[in-house]
Amino acid sequence: MNALIVGQGLAGTLLAYELIAKGITVTIVDRVDPLTSTKVAAGIILPVTGRRMVKTHLADQIIPYAVSHYRKLESLTEAVFFHEMPILEIFSSSKNRNDWYARSAENDLSGYAGAIKSKADIGECIRNDYGGIELLQSGYLDTNMFLEKMKWWLQQKCTVIADSFSLDDLKTVGNNMQWNETSYDKVVFCNGYHAATSNFFRYLPFIPAKGEIIDFAAPELPETHIINNGHFILPLGNGQFKAGATYSWTDLNTISTESALLELETALQKTISCPYKVTAQKAAVRPTVKDRRPLLGFHPVMKNIGIFNGLGTKGVMQGPYYASQMANLIADEKAVDDEVSVKRFESLFL
Ligand SMILES: Cc1cc2nc3c(=O)[nH]c(=O)nc-3n(C[C@H](O)[C@H](O)[C@H](O)COP(=O)(O)OP(=O)(O)OC[C@H]3O[C@@H](n4cnc5c(N)ncnc54)[C@H](O)[C@@H]3O)c2cc1C
Repeated sequence: MNALIVGQGLAGTLLAYELIAKGITVTIVDRVDPLTSTKVAAGIILPVTGRRMVKTHLADQIIPYAVSHYRKLESLTEAVFFHEMPILEIFSSSKNRNDWYARSAENDLSGYAGAIKSKADIGECIRNDYGGIELLQSGYLDTNMFLEKMKWWLQQKCTVIADSFSLDDLKTVGNNMQWNETSYDKVVFCNGYHAATSNFFRYLPFIPAKGEIIDFAAPELPETHIINNGHFILPLGNGQFKAGATYSWTDLNTISTESALLELETALQKTISCPYKVTAQKAAVRPTVKDRRPLLGFHPVMKNIGIFNGLGTKGVMQGPYYASQMANLIADEKAVDDEVSVKRFESLFL
């Protein structure tokens, strides 16, 4: 069997690896956009959503799966791109602190809720009146290094074409699809939020969300934790940090805005008291879906046209687990979980 994957972001990269591991001949076409969701992402794995104190759906399965998968890919590429790092969730009020005390003792947060920190423990540079709690089994993927190293690996294992894919060049020939004079058993779209406007899958309820982040330097800010208080601060080493992120459902483009810079700097100043200097600002569009679940499967009519998409705000955490399911569907026709199957939206197509 051979497969064409359109897009080499997080989704396309993870799926290509899985298909190659199953012995499938893979071709990837990616147009190397400079600002994609994967390239701009902070790449954080957040096991418990801070404000609502809710554990991420399927966290017990998908987080260990993701961490061991990234470790495996690191050893293949002789690189280090996944970094385990605890989150420091800052309490917003004394009620919030009391709620966290109670919540952290509940069974389902065992292994995720760490030490409660006092104001004094947290120190001067991070503004807090009520302390915070450490959240464990978290960390971040250096998404740019991941893409770069995996591209190097993929180039040795399959064909990687730097080009813009157009549906006009795709033809049905017998039971197969033909593109660029080559016939493919399967074509799988991993083209991020662009799938929302492409012909085959635009019936799916994408609600793409533009997000902006800033890079900043702050030599005095501690680098031991990812800080979260609704916005995040991610330490990258050597006094460099990322902060984000904004959400906007309009102006779906990769242009950085003054309003996002203002929002992010206001949040930063509420969180830290030490000097900082913004060094960059970036924007991209997340491929998010109405019910916040990924999209896996094949087109209702075009049975060899597939999609692996909708990784939304949690791509790093759920990508490896669902890439494996998508590969099983392609190679062995093994059904994916109902809650992520595109079949759940078939009525929208009909
Ligand atoms: C500001 C921001 C912060 C984020 N933070 C986090 C976070 O902390 N943790 C987390 O888990 N997730 C985060 N995300 C979400 C995460 O980035 C996504 O879940 C994930 O990266 C989506 O990957 P993807 O491969 O589906 O899409 P993309 O990364 O957008 O990849 C799509 C690829 O398809 C290519 N492509 C598109 N059209 C064509 C075409 N016609 N021909 C050829 N190639 C094409 C593009 O060039 C691109 O390479 C964040 C996103 C943003 C924007």
